[in-house]
Amino acid sequence: MDNMQNTVFKRKLPIPKEIKEQYPLSEQGQQVKTARDKEIADIFTGKDKRLALIIGPCSADRADAVLEYIHRLADIQKAVADKILIIPRIYTGKPRTTGAGYKGMIHQPHPDRKPDMLEGIIAIRQLHKDAIEQTGLTCADEMLYPENGRYLSDLLSYEAVGARSVEDQEHRLVASMLSVPVGMKNPTSGDFSIMLNAIQAAQHGHTFLYRGWEVESKGNPLAHAILRGSVDKHGINHQNYHYEDLRVLHDMYCNGGYENPAVIVDTNHSNSGKKYLEQVRIVNEVLHARRYDSDINRMVKGFMIESYLEDGCQKVEDGVYGKSITDPCLGWDKTRDLIYQIASQIV
Ligand code: PEP
Ligand code: MN
Repeated sequence: MDNMQNTVFKRKLPIPKEIKEQYPLSEQGQQVKTARDKEIADIFTGKDKRLALIIGPCSADRADAVLEYIHRLADIQKAVADKILIIPRIYTGKPRTTGAGYKGMIHQPHPDRKPDMLEGIIAIRQLHKDAIEQTGLTCADEMLYPENGRYLSDLLSYEAVGARSVEDQEHRLVASMLSVPVGMKNPTSGDFSIMLNAIQAAQHGHTFLYRGWEVESKGNPLAHAILRGSVDKHGINHQNYHYEDLRVLHDMYCNGGYENPAVIVDTNHSNSGKKYLEQVRIVNEVLHARRYDSDINRMVKGFMIESYLEDGCQKVEDGVYGKSITDPCLGWDKTRDLIYQIASQIV
């Protein structure tokens, strides 16, 4: 007897190659992607001293609002191009703490309707493709389901492995296949060594089974850390963006023989305790630590900020355009001011 009797195999979906052929990235979009990937790699290897800002809503809930948001970012990107490189967050799959709730555009292209995985894979591809073709910005997404990565593998310039996935072997091995930076978040428990083990695994090559293929990965020298704070056994949040935390990470990096030791500071999640307005203060504190200590200056490559058109968050059924339906985000005016504030502090 087969063990998968509790599953309905509803329909066979197109494979990534077929979806890519149906929704190809334009020639110009491909050139943008190549050029941006090079610029972003240069930040993580230290050739380019600009800061990377991975910024955008916690979840990409609707294409129109996300595209409007990215158009606004693209305008600012031009103004701060000598100081900052903006990588918008288009997060199309959401990890859920208990499994319940909105799982992202890949499941539900319409958050108030039932899941439809075919519509989902088309919607996420279309959104990442539109962002590149309309704004010239290639974007970031979370590597939530590593097996699905090829639906977007010609579009993404940055991937993050989330706090709930970072200890998982498959995520680590798939990260080792990629040529774009992959940020490994610290796990929700906060243990730095789990995150560093993930970076080590991703930086080395492996032979394994991937989508019915025996593959050999070369290793990803751009795999790096993301600090997002932690939660203890009492459910209390602990920050890990302070100077002392950054020093601990720096020293652990020094003892380990990693390529391109780098960190992105996630200013929301357990670092802000989801008090999203605190993100402004947290960015400023880390910028101060960078100025104070040249090791930290070299290691901190940028920030991950949760931001959208409207402040805060709402329930799905409230339906406010441009307001997060997952984690609370910094609204547009505060976001714009923050980006200019960051730019003004970088020499
Ligand atoms: C996120 O970046 O929105 C996210 C889910 O992060 P984490 O994995 O740190 O909880
Ligand atoms: Mn979030």
